[in-house]
Amino acid sequence: MKELRRTRWTVVLLLLTGCVASRGVERGLLLENVRLLDPENGAFSKPLDLLVEGDRIAAVGDLAPRAGVERLDMAGGYAVPGLWDCHVHLGYLASSEELDVDTVRAEFVRRGVLYVRDMGSPLLVVKELAARSGGPAVYYAGPMLEQAPLSPFLAQRNEGLPGLAQPVADAADVDRILDELVASEARLTKAFGTWDLELLDHYLAGAGESGLGVALDPGMPLFQGVPLVEALDRGVTSIEHAMSAWSEVLRDDLRARFDAIRSGGGGLPTQMPFTFEVMALGADSIDRDRFDAVAERFARSGALLCPTLSVADRWRSEPPPAPPGMSQAAWQECMRGFHAANVVLVTELARRGVPMLVGQDGFDPEGVLREMTLLESAGVDRAAILRGATLLPARWLGAEGDLGSLEPGRVADLLVLEADPLQSVANLRGPRLVVQRGRVVDTSTEK
Ligand SMILES: [Zn+2]
Repeated sequence: MKELRRTRWTVVLLLLTGCVASRGVERGLLLENVRLLDPENGAFSKPLDLLVEGDRIAAVGDLAPRAGVERLDMAGGYAVPGLWDCHVHLGYLASSEELDVDTVRAEFVRRGVLYVRDMGSPLLVVKELAARSGGPAVYYAGPMLEQAPLSPFLAQRNEGLPGLAQPVADAADVDRILDELVASEARLTKAFGTWDLELLDHYLAGAGESGLGVALDPGMPLFQGVPLVEALDRGVTSIEHAMSAWSEVLRDDLRARFDAIRSGGGGLPTQMPFTFEVMALGADSIDRDRFDAVAERFARSGALLCPTLSVADRWRSEPPPAPPGMSQAAWQECMRGFHAANVVLVTELARRGVPMLVGQDGFDPEGVLREMTLLESAGVDRAAILRGATLLPARWLGAEGDLGSLEPGRVADLLVLEADPLQSVANLRGPRLVVQRGRVVDTSTEK
């Protein structure tokens, strides 16, 4: 039955893509008998009609067919606004020798992932990718910024991909870089690792004046250069990686040792053994009663959390090489614990209403779906997951008037599913129809 339906849809799509490419957009497109997601409230409408004119949604409701408008019966399918992947690094994709950049970009679109937030790539590389057609719209930060000198982790990555990161010397340097980002049409900026709070304040104020959203990646799993609560109180609006909250919710004995190590100033040689010990403890390192205060602070700040559970999940299944002096078996235990701790962080913060974005921290077209599945397994409400992949990123970028929902006047970016994604996020897989800027995308070659 499923096969039969798939064949029918494929035939419809083949017919469709033939017509629409040549004339559908100019004359309009009427999607009939389709349920529309209201991402704010996390509910679908009853089946109705949606009219596309040019690249915009012109009307929704019980609409009469119009002469010359292409009509498509969606058979009660479920329409969702175009999906966002809120944490990618396209710079790595562009530098890949095995992958064809445009093929991968097209794969994102076929899955209904029509926008990405690039959270660190060489500026000129990502700007060039953003200007190309045939892929998701790219909202980019350019390089990750860290107060000079770059941390060993970022310095090493920057050697592998020059321009991935940029050290910032002082306030004048911050001003110059922000001007460059604005001139290069960046829409956001990303701080990484360690900053003096005074310089961070200057950076945040400048970014705000320039209209750039600010995301912060704490860098280290526990010993963060800018503690989460400082970042939230100072106006960072997007916190990357669930582990950002870890040190705030350590159980008493670990927190006491953490504070002693941090104030002792011994640096990485004292921090890393403790970090590995806490990783191996996994969920046992966490005091679940501590989440109320953190969630309250999050809510008050209005910031979003982009958990990127995919990272710990990847490390759990394919651990990177063990650090010197540690057996691979002990390292695997650390990676398993790291993942378990990340899951608890997401579960507890989501349960208390911290709004979350969906992002994979990579460049895999399947990545956003995998991240959604991980969030679902961690107990995040499906309506919240869909909101974090549609409306919230649009709002974060100040693009809510154009993107993120299916109301008249919005850009016609959407996907139509056979089954309800509020029942299972797996229903987002293999959309039956993808519309990008009013044009039907050919999804028939999806593997
Ligand atoms: Zn990242």
